[in-house]
Amino acid sequence: MSILVTGGAGYIGSHTVILLIEAGYDIVIFDNFCNASKEAIKRVEKIVGHKIATFEGDVRNREDLTKVFKSHNIDAVIHFAGLKAVGESVENPLKYYDNNVNGTAVLCEVMAEYGCKSIVFSSSATVYGDPHTTPIVESFPLFATNPYGRTKLFVEEMLRDLYVSDNDWKIVLLRYFNPVGAHDLGIMGEDPNGIPNNLMPFIAQTAVGKRESLSIFGGDYDTPDGTGIRDYIHVMDLADGHVKALEIIKNLSEVMTINLGTGNGYSVLDMVKAFEKASGKKVPYKIVPRRAGDIAKCFADPSYAKEVLGWEAKRSIDEMCQDTWRWQSRNPDGYKNKGK
Ligand code: NAD
Ligand code: UDP
Repeated sequence: MSILVTGGAGYIGSHTVILLIEAGYDIVIFDNFCNASKEAIKRVEKIVGHKIATFEGDVRNREDLTKVFKSHNIDAVIHFAGLKAVGESVENPLKYYDNNVNGTAVLCEVMAEYGCKSIVFSSSATVYGDPHTTPIVESFPLFATNPYGRTKLFVEEMLRDLYVSDNDWKIVLLRYFNPVGAHDLGIMGEDPNGIPNNLMPFIAQTAVGKRESLSIFGGDYDTPDGTGIRDYIHVMDLADGHVKALEIIKNLSEVMTINLGTGNGYSVLDMVKAFEKASGKKVPYKIVPRRAGDIAKCFADPSYAKEVLGWEAKRSIDEMCQDTWRWQSRNPDGYKNKGK
C-alpha cells in the first residue's frame, strides 16, 4: 500500500514515516520545507536503511501534487503539512487560512481526481478551546481561541462536509495533545526555528545551555502547583496512532474523530523536574505572568482511541525527557548546517 505523507519532513511526519515503513507501507514524502530540513529525511533514510521517494512541493499547488499522483498509485494520504505557530497566526491570519485551509482543499481536489479518497488529518486539542472540564472527550463543544485553532476547526468541518457530499471518502481526524520526545536513536527530533514557543524544546535548549532560563507562564492557575497542566505524548506513540488509523481506514462508514493523548496531565514544574532528572542538568526558571490565550488544564480521555484503534500511549514522561535529551545533547543545533 502506498501512502503519501504531506509534511513528512516535519517533526511528527518524519517520526511517523519510520513506523509506517517498519509496518510495510511504501511511502512518498511531500513537503515544501518551509519548516523542515532535508537533513531530517536523510536521518530517516539512515534509520530505515533505504531511500524514500521525496517530492519538494506545496499542497496549495495543483501541479506539484499532480506530479506525485501521476507517478505513484497513492492509496491514502496522511496530511501533516501545515503551519502551527499560534502567535504568527494572530499576526498573519490569511497566511494560515491559505496554507492550512486552502492547502487542504486543493489536496482533496487532486486526491479525488486520482480516485484516492482516504485521508488522515492532523487536528489538535486546540479545537476544544478552554474545556469546561477534564479529561476531554471527543464530543465536547468545539471552540477556537486563535486563527491557527480556527484553521484546524474549519478543516475538520470541511472534511465532514466532503464526506456528506460523497460517502466514498474515508476520513480520520486525529486530535493531538502535546507531542514531545524523539526517536530513541538520538539522531532525529524536534528542531524549531528561532526561539521555541513550546515548553519541551525550550526546556531542552535551556538544559543544553543555549537559553539562560525558562520563563514559566503563570504560577497562579487553579492547579496543584499553580502552573499549567498538559497531556504530553511521546511522538513515537503519536506516530503509532497513525499506523493504527491506517489499519481501520478502509472499513470506515463515518468520519472518525479521535483524541491522541495519554490521559495524564503534568504541570510545567513536573516537566522541569522530569527533565532535570533525565538530563542531570539544572533547568533555571522564573515564574512570569500568564501567556495570553493559555488555559489552566488540558488532558485527554483517550478511551475512544483504545476502543476503535486498539491504541494507547505506552511511553512515560521519563522516556519523553530522556529521548528529547539524547537528541538535544547530541545535536545542540538540531539539523542546522546540514542542508537546511
Ligand atoms: P512541523 O512544522 O514540524 O511539520 C509540518 C511540515 O509541513 C513541515 O515539514 C513543513 O515544511 C510542511 N509544510 C507546511 N506547509 C506546507 C505546504 N503548504 N506544502 C507542503 N508542505 C508544507 O509541525 P509538526 O509539529 O510536525 O506538526 C504536524 C501537523 O500536526 C501540523 O498540521 C500541526 O498543525 C499538527 N499539530 C501539531 C502539534 C504540535 O504541537 N507539534 C499539535 C497538534 C497538531
Ligand atoms: N509554557 C511555559 N513556558 C514556555 C512555553 C510554555 O511556561 O516557554 C507553558 C504553557 O503556558 C503551557 C505549557 O507550558 O502551560 C505547554 O505549552 P506549549 O506551548 O508547549 O503547548 P500548548 O500551549 O499548545 O498546550
